Amino acid sequence: MKVILLGPPGAGKGTQAQFITEKYGIPQISTGDMLRSAVKAGSELGLKVKDIMASGGLVSDEIIIALVKERILQADCSNGFLFDGFPRTIPQAQALVDAGVEIEYVVEIAVDDEQIVSRLSGRRVHENSGRVYHIEHNPPLNEGLDNETQEPLIQREDDKEATIRNRLSIYHGQTKPLVEFYTDLSKSKTSGPVFSTIDGLGGLDEVQARIVTALS
Ligand code: ADP
Ligand code: ADP
Repeated sequence: MKVILLGPPGAGKGTQAQFITEKYGIPQISTGDMLRSAVKAGSELGLKVKDIMASGGLVSDEIIIALVKERILQADCSNGFLFDGFPRTIPQAQALVDAGVEIEYVVEIAVDDEQIVSRLSGRRVHENSGRVYHIEHNPPLNEGLDNETQEPLIQREDDKEATIRNRLSIYHGQTKPLVEFYTDLSKSKTSGPVFSTIDGLGGLDEVQARIVTALS
């Protein structure tokens, strides 16, 4: 199964991806996590993208497309994958079509801007695994510590309010048009993806149930 989770930063894509990968046995491909690992490792790619990520801007399509094309060739993708945070622009989505990658489901998680600001400012992450928490809505068992490793959680540098607003405005300008792109694609081809929009507000379990319905 090949799935795309669309939605603004903070919609809950990463949170829900964790459960989808377990339920359907497909890997999560988060371009954000891949880029953050590169920054942390100080690789050539990491040095190139560090500043743009910190400011909340988008990394160039060329870099992202090359990264994803290489990733989906790996053995664990043979039964499909879940894209989280990719594609984020029309050229990225078009590159998938041009490469003959046939996506079966595109699920947009809809959450309004004010809720996004509250979600992102309370987000805490476990850096090594990408596991996501929220100080109020999804707290770890022990405050400030990852449930599995008990290592400290961090607040991402780009989860500060001014940067969040910048990311939201980029989302509306560059990523939201993908809704129309996939709606059109779902109508234009018999093998096009099934496109659904689900309400991202409510408990984690409620949102999860809506995703299961969208994927069936
Ligand atoms: P969030 O989970 O808050 O939506 P991500 O972890 O997906 O954020 O992405 C963090 C940052 O990494 C983005 O703000 C952007 O700088 C970069 N990035 C991630 N994915 C992409 C992409 N597909 N295209 C361009 N930039 C990306
Ligand atoms: P994305 O990957 O789309 O950027 P995340 O999964 O990282 O979003 O979620 C952003 C923040 O919102 C996290 O702190 C997460 O714990 C929290 N969150 C996720 N789903 C919900 C929900 N249904 N209700 C409230 N908070 C949520």
